[in-house]
Amino acid sequence: MTEVETAPTSAVLEADALTELREGFRGAIIEPGDPAYDDTRAVFNGMFDRRPAAILRPTGTADVIRAVGLARTSGLPLAVRSGGHSVAGFSSCDGGIVLDLRTLQGVRVDPVKRTGRVQGGVNWATFDRETQQFGLAVTGGRVTTTGVVGFTTGSGSGWLERKLGFACDNVTRADIVTADGDVVVASEDENEDLLWGLKGGSGNFGVVTEMEFRLHPINPIVYGGLMAFDPAKGREVMRTWRDISDGAPEELGWAVASVVAPPEPFVPEQWQGKRMWAVAGQFAGPQDEAERLLAPLRAFGPEVDLFQAMPYTVVQGLLDPPNPYGRRNYWRAHNVTGFDEAMMDKMLELSETMPSPFSALIVLHMAGAIARVSDDATALGGRAAPFSVHLNTMWEGADGDDANIAWTRGATEAFSPWNSSGMALNFYTEVGQADVADSFGARLERLRTVKRRYDPGNLFRLNQNIVP
Ligand SMILES: Cc1cc2nc3c(=O)[nH]c(=O)nc-3n(C[C@H](O)[C@H](O)[C@H](O)COP(=O)(O)OP(=O)(O)OC[C@H]3O[C@@H](n4cnc5c(N)ncnc54)[C@H](O)[C@@H]3O)c2cc1C
Repeated sequence: MTEVETAPTSAVLEADALTELREGFRGAIIEPGDPAYDDTRAVFNGMFDRRPAAILRPTGTADVIRAVGLARTSGLPLAVRSGGHSVAGFSSCDGGIVLDLRTLQGVRVDPVKRTGRVQGGVNWATFDRETQQFGLAVTGGRVTTTGVVGFTTGSGSGWLERKLGFACDNVTRADIVTADGDVVVASEDENEDLLWGLKGGSGNFGVVTEMEFRLHPINPIVYGGLMAFDPAKGREVMRTWRDISDGAPEELGWAVASVVAPPEPFVPEQWQGKRMWAVAGQFAGPQDEAERLLAPLRAFGPEVDLFQAMPYTVVQGLLDPPNPYGRRNYWRAHNVTGFDEAMMDKMLELSETMPSPFSALIVLHMAGAIARVSDDATALGGRAAPFSVHLNTMWEGADGDDANIAWTRGATEAFSPWNSSGMALNFYTEVGQADVADSFGARLERLRTVKRRYDPGNLFRLNQNIVP
C-alpha cells in the first residue's frame, strides 16, 4: 500500500537472538501462537493485518534500548507502536519486530510549572484526564484513543489548536532512544535540532520514551458538541460556518463535515442512516459568547443539536464511537488556500458520491495560534493555510477497497485548485517521497541533517520517512 513499505528482507528472527534478548528484557515478548498475539498485533486500520515475528512490550527505557538493539543487529524491520492509529499502518509489520509501547503509561503533571510529561505509550484519554484534574490542557487528538507521541510528532491537530497551537508547538523536551541505543535528551537548550525535528518530523529519529509539554489553563467546562442539518441546507451551512470562522475568537475550534447520521437515540429516526451536513467542535470560553457565535447556524434549524456546556474531556471523546478499530481506512488531507463558493460546489458534489456511509468529508478551520509560529520554527510548515480538507474514507470489507480508494484519489484531484503545501503527513494512508517533499518543503534538507545525525542507517523507516 504505502511506498514506504516494510523493506523486503531476507532476515529472520533467529531463536538464539530471542533467547539472548529474554535474558535482559523484563517485559513481555509475544510471538505467533501466543494467545495474546492477535489482539496485540491489531492496529486501527484494518487494511494492515500484519504478522510480526515478535512483539516486544517494554517495562522501561532499559527494555527499549534492548529492543532497538535487537532490531539493529538482526536487520529486521522495526515498527514502533503506541496508540496504533497510524492510518498508513506504520506501527505494524510482517516478519519484523513491533515495539509496543502501550506498557509505558506514566503521566506526571506539574500544576505549578504548568508542564505535563507522558511516557511513550500514553493516549489522549489518559493524558487529558490527568491535566484536566488541574484545569490544564494542551491541544489533544479529536479521538481519545490516539497515542500522544505519534500524534504530536506528526503535528498534533485538535480543537484547541487555534488557541494553543499544534501539540508539537508545545513540546519542551523529549527523551529518546536513538538507533545506536543511546538515550538523548532534546530540549530548548540541549540537542535543539532534535527537538525541532520531533515537531513534525514523526518517528524518524528514535523511540520517544518521555515527552514534556507546556500546559495551559482550560476550564474543564467548555461549550462543545455537534449539530447536523438537512442535506438540502448544505451550502448555507458551509457558508455560514465559514463566515463565523472568519475572524472568530481563537477559543473556537471546529469543523464542517458531510457525515452519515448514526442510529443513535439523539438522532430523529427519519435521519438515521442519512448523509447530513454537520458542524462539530468546541468553544473554550464563556457560554454566552459561544451561543452568540452559533446563533446564525441555529437559525437554520438543525435536526440534531448537541452543542451545550460540557466537560472538555467529554468533547474529546465525542468522535470515538464513529472511529472504531478494525475498519478499512484510506485517508488523505490537504491544506487549502480558502473556502470559496466553488469549493463548496465540490464539497456538495463529492458528498453525493462517497461510496461508504462511514466516510467523512471534512473542512477544518485553522489559523490563530498555528499561524503565529513561523514556517521554519518547527519541522512542520503550512502554517498560513486558513482551512484544511480531510478525506477520512472508511469502510468495511476488502471488496470496497477499489471504490473507496478511487473516490479519495478523485477527491484529492478535485481539490487541487485550492491545495497548498505543508500538510501534516499523519493524515495520509499512502505516503510517498513526493508527499514528504511537499510537506516539508525547504525544511527537508535540515531534517535530513538531523536524521543523518541520529539514524544514519534508517533503522526507523516505518514512518513518514526522511531518507538520510
Ligand atoms: C481515528 C483517528 C483520529 C485521528 N485524529 C487526529 C487528530 O484529531 N489530529 C491529528 O493531528 N491526528 C489525528 N490522527 C492521526 C494520528 O495523529 C496519527 O495517526 C498518529 O501517528 C497516531 O499515533 P498513535 O500513537 O496512535 O499511532 P501508532 O500507529 O501507534 O504510531 C504511529 C507512528 O508514530 C510513531 N510513534 C508513535 N509513538 C512513538 C514513540 N513513543 N516514539 C517514537 N515514535 C512513535 C511511529 O513512527 C509510529 O509508527 C487520527 C488518526 C486516527 C486513526
